Amino acid sequence: MSTLITGGTVYLDDGPAQVDVLIEGEHIVAIGHGLQTPHAEVLPANGLAVLPGMIDFHVHMDDLIGGVPLADSYRTGSQAATLTGITTLIGFVTQSAEHSLSQDVHIASDKVNNQSFCDVGFHLTPTRFAEHDWGDIEDLIARGFRTFKFYTTYKRAGLYQSYESLRTLFARLSTLNVRILVHCEDEDILQRAEAFITNFSSAISHARRRPPEAEVTAIEKIIALAEATNAKAHIVHVSTAEGTRTIQRAAVKGGVTCETAPHYLLLNDDLLAAPNGHRWICSPPLRSEMNRAHMEDLAAGGAFDIFATDHCAFMRTDKDARKDDVRNIPNGIPGVGTLVPLMHELLCIKHGKTLDELRIRLSRNPAQLAGLYPRKGTIQVGADADLVLLAENGSPRTIRASLSDVWDPYAGRTTTLDVRHVFLRGREVVHNNRLTDADHPRGKALYVI
Ligand SMILES: [Zn+2]
Repeated sequence: MSTLITGGTVYLDDGPAQVDVLIEGEHIVAIGHGLQTPHAEVLPANGLAVLPGMIDFHVHMDDLIGGVPLADSYRTGSQAATLTGITTLIGFVTQSAEHSLSQDVHIASDKVNNQSFCDVGFHLTPTRFAEHDWGDIEDLIARGFRTFKFYTTYKRAGLYQSYESLRTLFARLSTLNVRILVHCEDEDILQRAEAFITNFSSAISHARRRPPEAEVTAIEKIIALAEATNAKAHIVHVSTAEGTRTIQRAAVKGGVTCETAPHYLLLNDDLLAAPNGHRWICSPPLRSEMNRAHMEDLAAGGAFDIFATDHCAFMRTDKDARKDDVRNIPNGIPGVGTLVPLMHELLCIKHGKTLDELRIRLSRNPAQLAGLYPRKGTIQVGADADLVLLAENGSPRTIRASLSDVWDPYAGRTTTLDVRHVFLRGREVVHNNRLTDADHPRGKALYVI
């Protein structure tokens, strides 16, 4: 099966170009002018942008969080994603009490293969570190896994790591050529803040029990650990302008990267103070309008290596049933179906960037940070033929963070992005904003063990 895409504006690694792209099987096999291919099906892309498939580097799907099942499986979550031009999701595998990490990777892969509409990679969270666990970790790295994730909080969920244990983990992992993702909120500061709160029934108290200084302090400590151990650290879902500037200063010396999520750029804590504020509970929490405005400026100025959603969708009934005490409300909001349209609106429409900005921060950079580049995240010969063909000036369509029964944080928003074709490894999976075959998901787990 081969397809020749002609006449489009193709977003290559060094910028847009008017070239043809030839797909054969699952890969891109030629890029150039006037390619001769008598057997290929020709797809005219005049007037369309041809981008490498987008990547959401941070999603939670098909899992239990705090004992509550997530609203999205990889099947439903990937459907919302793929319709917007996302061809790779990166989820999480956390080592369970009863399994080795590689057994848990195997279980997670089964939730993806023939279930997901796009490809899926995993960030790994080992929870035990005996020598045989390290043997398992090194095996997984040999098989292609390149990212690990740790938390400076969430004691109750068994995820917390002290800075001392993180120092040991950083030192050992730094010798293995991997990137270490860290959720930065300082546990001591969270506990001190919580001790001052007497009324947990209003959603705004969630923001008070997880204050900005908890994030900033944890970021400072993690940067110091990364510099001391020569580890490559990546700070996930940065929510504060001060934390972002701290990372920017460290990034000059190299090694530290970061992401933020659209909700920290577009929403603020007025939503938590209003009725039904529990619908917007996530961690870190939404911040003040002043912080949000600074975050938007930082995003437009290129402070974030990538944008990722931290998609963590709960059913409306699960959010509502626990809404009277912020300590019990499941933490997380949906986002995966809105990443591409919201970042297009913010960066391209509002701040005048071109689609190249989306290519860099939603495709190339996440692929590089996840160790997937140049298989993903680029249009070049040999890469997977993951492509999205779109127009920026379609008629407005409603966007949806999730297709499940969730409280959508962006309800009512629209996009003019018109997603004409999405190819996943050479096969067209979206045609004119619809799945081509809703009964046969073709995605796969990127590292099968
Ligand atoms: Zn997360």
